[in-house]
Amino acid sequence: MADIEGSCNCGAIKVRVIGGFGENAKAGICHCKTCQLLSGSLFSYLGFVSRENLKILQGEPKGYKQPAEAARSGKEVIRYFCGDCGTPLWAAAESAPETYSIKLAMFGNSLPPAMEIFWKHAHDWQKPIVPAEMVFEEWY
Ligand SMILES: [Zn+2]
Ligand SMILES: [Zn+2]
Repeated sequence: MADIEGSCNCGAIKVRVIGGFGENAKAGICHCKTCQLLSGSLFSYLGFVSRENLKILQGEPKGYKQPAEAARSGKEVIRYFCGDCGTPLWAAAESAPETYSIKLAMFGNSLPPAMEIFWKHAHDWQKPIVPAEMVFEEWY
């Protein structure tokens, strides 16, 4: 597939995903409280890229190192964002050393959703976007 490019809201950070997300790539929705805060919204809308395929074309993202004890995995997560405009960009989890989870807003949120996790943090006025069998109360 063709490469895709995206940027933060102010344009200081520009990135390219070599080969795009792949033919049948889908998005994941995470309702956990961290994702609510770090998206400033109801949930994170996430894709996954192999680390070697993410190229920073411009700028230098800031990284917030989330302490291991704050992560469910018990491992460290570095969450990258634009230091100028604050757009959340991607996360590097020690528990997934070959991939980044990346915010799809940078790429127009164009992947369809496959699953929703940590649904237990959603509100009773929310409705799942995906079929019920792909909605999970928690995740590991
Ligand atoms: Zn920015
Ligand atoms: Zn989350």
